[in-house]
Amino acid sequence: MKEFDLIERFFKLGGHQRRDVIYGIGDDAAITQIPEKQNLATTTDTLVSGVHFLPDTPAEAVAYKAVAVNLSDLAAMGAEPAWISLSLSLPTTDEKWLESFSSGLFELSKYYSVQLIGGDTVRGDLAVTITAQGFVPNDSALTRSGAKPGDWIYVTGTLGDAGAGLEILKGELEANDEDAKYLIHRHQYPSPRVLAGTALRRSASACIDISDGLLADIQHIVDASGCGALINVDKLPISDQLNRVVFPHHAIDLALAAGDDYELIFTVAEDYKSIVETAFASFNVNATCIGQITGAVGKVDLRSNDEPFLHEGQRGYEHFDAS
Ligand code: ADP
Ligand code: MG
Repeated sequence: MKEFDLIERFFKLGGHQRRDVIYGIGDDAAITQIPEKQNLATTTDTLVSGVHFLPDTPAEAVAYKAVAVNLSDLAAMGAEPAWISLSLSLPTTDEKWLESFSSGLFELSKYYSVQLIGGDTVRGDLAVTITAQGFVPNDSALTRSGAKPGDWIYVTGTLGDAGAGLEILKGELEANDEDAKYLIHRHQYPSPRVLAGTALRRSASACIDISDGLLADIQHIVDASGCGALINVDKLPISDQLNRVVFPHHAIDLALAAGDDYELIFTVAEDYKSIVETAFASFNVNATCIGQITGAVGKVDLRSNDEPFLHEGQRGYEHFDAS
């Protein structure tokens, strides 16, 4: 199949069509309209076969996750997603694979009224790069750098599910069918917390999404904000499914250090605590308070039953680890 036919058939008209896209797929560049008094948020993430997903992952899941991780980055900035571009490197043009890929790509993007506005298609090892863009009202983006001592630390959803799903896929963990299905789904089809992110614009002091694991990502907030964090590991939100398939200490390890959860960590000053808790009561996602920002610059301290808690696991996934 020629590149042009492939784009026409699988990418050109499949998704949501937005009025702010003046020229989309088909010209040399997309032309879009940014709303007045809004800033443009832009993020890119690449998923490489064998590095970010197992080579036998269904095409639909690869595409879904590629969109999800990018929308998660926008959510962490408090931005509302609008457009995505897709750069696709393919070893072959397998039509069945592309059909499945295209349906995964458009599932989340349609749900969030996001339009695919362009991209590039090349032959090479399987890799998917998505650039996502969205809007945030002027001067109201969430960042990693606004946390202050005394602020409360929250996370959305549950932690560690994606890590357990990956262990199950790799044959390192056993689970009953129903729990295995849930945990693998959490690994392959993460839910970007788009509504939570936009709702937190006025009330959170800092925010980040969890891609590398809670410990690694809270460290980014602590470093950028010039403060520390105290986390009560007894408060970590663990799903019933995860609790059923691993021992409690393994669940805590996964919640602290396994990546790919794509939940949000955010910090909230005391004055905004009740506003945030009321807002989340109307969402179908929980936010759990897991600790507090401290003045211990650069330090993330863990506690359980008011005692220091030592975590021996790896500190998240590091691509260029020297060891
Ligand atoms: P050019 O050679 O000018 O870069 P291309 O032939 O690569 O143009 O692409 C033609 C059109 O199709 C462009 O509008 C481009 O953005 C779009 N496009 C190419 N590949 C993809 C893809 N994988 N997904 C979405 N749009 C794509
Ligand atoms: Mg090209």
